[in-house]
Amino acid sequence: YQLVATPVRPERGRVEGVVLLALDVTEQKQAEALRREFTANVSHELKTPLTSISGYAEMIENGIAKQVDVVPFAARIHSEATRMIQLVEDLLELSKLDEREELPNNRSVSLLEVANRVAVRLGELADRRGITIEVTGSDKTVQGDPTLLEELAANLCENGIKYNREGGRVTIALSGDDAAPCLQVSDTGVGIPKEHQARVFERFYRVDKSRSKETGGTGLGLSIAKHIAQLHRAALSLTSEVGRGTTITVQFPTEQKQCPGEDGES
Ligand code: ADP
Repeated sequence: YQLVATPVRPERGRVEGVVLLALDVTEQKQAEALRREFTANVSHELKTPLTSISGYAEMIENGIAKQVDVVPFAARIHSEATRMIQLVEDLLELSKLDEREELPNNRSVSLLEVANRVAVRLGELADRRGITIEVTGSDKTVQGDPTLLEELAANLCENGIKYNREGGRVTIALSGDDAAPCLQVSDTGVGIPKEHQARVFERFYRVDKSRSKETGGTGLGLSIAKHIAQLHRAALSLTSEVGRGTTITVQFPTEQKQCPGEDGES
């Protein structure tokens, strides 16, 4: 609490009392703490690849280049720089979404078109990892921003590919009816342990840091997805089983119905 004291003094008279005001600043403090944590996370995430880049560049500068093959050093510098670019892009995307209260472009969107575009866009990444992407269900129409909806579905699908196994599958399923459309992205991957499930939508939260590094994740994909869902008044929920796979459901606003197999818990 923050205390504010104001003396009670009738005109030019002496002080007769004090009004004490106790202001609940919990929310303000929490927001400040979150901002501080976010800044610390961003600094750390940017410092790690920069330290690496600087180290490799220094080795080349110091003449190691004459003794050993520097191509692997250049490759590391390149991959760390790519990682930083991805991170900065995700941060910019998040800050743009943070400022938005309304959809920049709101119209009827075909979920089938969104799903097909994502399947094509991520086809190459899936191929490289021996993963099949399939789109199932009939078309549904929702109100929203086509670019943001594609971003949302792509983020979920990309995770389905990254946290999968060789020969696995990612399914983008359209279900429900036009009054209660759903988009579900399921994978046959590693799954998310129960104790982490509620936290994966937080910024920078990762279940397995070393795996994320090797898969190239920034830890921001699901928070971007959550933001986009919120802007569409859609609910995101997750079911997952370790070793079997994960399903993330985007339930678009509806009066009564829900997706098959979803109990609305996350
Ligand atoms: P990242 O860029 O690390 O993938 P996300 O915000 O997209 O960040 O996801 C946060 C974390 O949640 C990931 O690091 C991963 O541990 C876990 N995760 C997300 N999607 C899946 C999935 N489909 N299967 C298993 N784990 C997942």
